[in-house]
Amino acid sequence: MNPRSFPKTADVVVVGAGPAGSLLAYRLAQAGVDVVLLDKARFPRGKTCGGGVSVRAQKLIPFDISSVIEETITGISFTRKLEDAFTRRYPEPLLFTVRREPFDEFLARRAEEAGARFGDGTPFLSMESKGGWVELETAAGVCAAPYVVGADGAQSPVARKTGLLSAPAWILAVHSEAPASLVPDWDPSLIHIDWGSLGRCYAYLFPKKLSLSLGAGGFAGPAGKIKGYQRAFLETRFRRDQTFPFSAAGFMIPLRKHRSPIQAGRCLLVGDAAGLADPFTGEGIFSAVKSAEIAASVVQDALRNRWDSLEPYQEAIDRELMPEWECSRLFRELFHLRPSYFHRKIASRDRWWKAMAKVLRGEKTFLDIKRKLGPLGSLLLRMAR
Ligand SMILES: Cc1cc2nc3c(=O)[nH]c(=O)nc-3n(C[C@H](O)[C@H](O)[C@H](O)COP(=O)(O)OP(=O)(O)OC[C@H]3O[C@@H](n4cnc5c(N)ncnc54)[C@H](O)[C@@H]3O)c2cc1C
Repeated sequence: MNPRSFPKTADVVVVGAGPAGSLLAYRLAQAGVDVVLLDKARFPRGKTCGGGVSVRAQKLIPFDISSVIEETITGISFTRKLEDAFTRRYPEPLLFTVRREPFDEFLARRAEEAGARFGDGTPFLSMESKGGWVELETAAGVCAAPYVVGADGAQSPVARKTGLLSAPAWILAVHSEAPASLVPDWDPSLIHIDWGSLGRCYAYLFPKKLSLSLGAGGFAGPAGKIKGYQRAFLETRFRRDQTFPFSAAGFMIPLRKHRSPIQAGRCLLVGDAAGLADPFTGEGIFSAVKSAEIAASVVQDALRNRWDSLEPYQEAIDRELMPEWECSRLFRELFHLRPSYFHRKIASRDRWWKAMAKVLRGEKTFLDIKRKLGPLGSLLLRMAR
């Protein structure tokens, strides 16, 4: 954003124009709120990500995203320990794949069209509370607003400045993009998941029109182990004489610890900045979209009623999102106890496969499945905590 056109005041400043920030800015602008959306990067910008948008996430996006969808996924090819393969198909879409560069650009431009003032290439530097305002210093100037949102991703400078989310748990992931021509016979309506090979990790292949996203991630100690796992996964797909698209870099997905603060005074965090990804799968786009929806409603109430604290946001996240992620963590731990059992059940029992498909489609939750376990489910949940 040009320093001369940089706004001096706004109702809300949103820092970060990933899915969380752009969708929050879109919802606020649609409701007539004067919102400034900032990002340090010039758009379009890339983001390391498998680009899997589950149907449960897509359903929460308040406009059509079909122009940026690469593939529609209706089945999953599973392996365990890179063997024991089977494929499950579903009559309806489970997820869509997107390339983050056009996807994030599309979302930011939709926010801009709705009335948000979008400034890319404008890094947030620091912030300070002054009376009923927060003064936000950026590379393009200072903007004062009653409320500020940190939607600035896994390393969230806003969270660090406010002392929020200080010690999250992390999923460590490695990721590569390869030309789709390297696996010419891959069915683009399928993703591949390998699980049960390395601790609480899994490896994935997500197809795009011209490329494949290949990665591995989870909780498995040092990055070297996950890289070794990604290498083994790739070797099942590529000929040995080909150049493998191994990842050199590791990426972190933060996970919020039980009830750790994601709001302080007039500032709140959404998406990865708040560590809200699914602890089983690392799926973060759903939480980005969901937390943006919750934040939009709280911020509008705050503006109407001149609240001096956004505390109701944290209460709403603890009520509406965290119980599901606690159950997800429970199922991650149960899966980890006997991966072979779960692998067999998904392969042979329609009920198990349908439950998984329905979770991806947002028609069922981990919480529903836990409830079916009755008192045993509650006991296991307490143990997983
Ligand atoms: C390897 C890997 C694979 C993944 N695969 C999937 C997947 O398939 N499906 C899925 O749902 N999730 C996946 N995720 C998680 C997903 O990428 C994130 O959860 C999601 O992008 C979070 O969105 P967000 O809007 O919160 O943050 P981000 O998308 O990270 O956006 C944050 C924005 O903040 C900006 N920013 C940062 N610092 C500043 C600053 N100082 N000033 C201004 N702006 C700033 C950044 O430039 C960025 O644009 C994956 C993650 C990794 C690492």
